[in-house]
Amino acid sequence: MKAATPRAAGQGCNTLSDPMAAGWSPGAEAVKGTMLQAHLTWARDRLRAPGLERLRLLLAPESREYLERPPLATDWVPLDALVEFDRGVAAVVGGAADRVYRALGHHSATLNLQGVYKAFAVEEPHRFFEQQALLHPRFLNFGSVHYERAGLQTGRMRAEGYPRPVPVLCASAVGYFEGVLEMMRVPGPVQCTEVLCQCQGDPSCLFDLSW
Ligand SMILES: [Zn+2]
Repeated sequence: MKAATPRAAGQGCNTLSDPMAAGWSPGAEAVKGTMLQAHLTWARDRLRAPGLERLRLLLAPESREYLERPPLATDWVPLDALVEFDRGVAAVVGGAADRVYRALGHHSATLNLQGVYKAFAVEEPHRFFEQQALLHPRFLNFGSVHYERAGLQTGRMRAEGYPRPVPVLCASAVGYFEGVLEMMRVPGPVQCTEVLCQCQGDPSCLFDLSW
């Protein structure tokens, strides 16, 4: 626990004071604004005015604020706000919540990688996921992620050390990985499965990826 704050500061996360995050204390779990931004655009596109109004009523004031004033991509947003927002969206959409979390993660990948990949390059998914693991501290100020190549078109992403693992993050990660691979125009079939999960008491969340 004590190591979390210095490590985050060392990774260039020293602009942690976010005026939009009322009640948020330094050292608490936070995610980069770009994640919530993507989820907000998905909600705006999919939920019409009545759905957005229902969502607004489900959110606590601090989270509701983000509907009016989306965070900057570089802001830190309390993890609690992201989780509450995603749960609210899932409640308004209805049906299986995991499916909605996956769609939110998928949308993040689509937004970030739109137009980046014109053709499939066989090494690219490995390179991307290795880079993604290194960049983890820029997007989440907790836990760590490690990627390993398993085969030519298979790999494993392992996330661990989450103080409070939440299924929202796991399901949206699956959707994100699927979206990334689709944006890279992989031959497919794309398969992303979480085979171990911290939410179930496992020591890590382990995602098997193949394309
Ligand atoms: Zn998990």
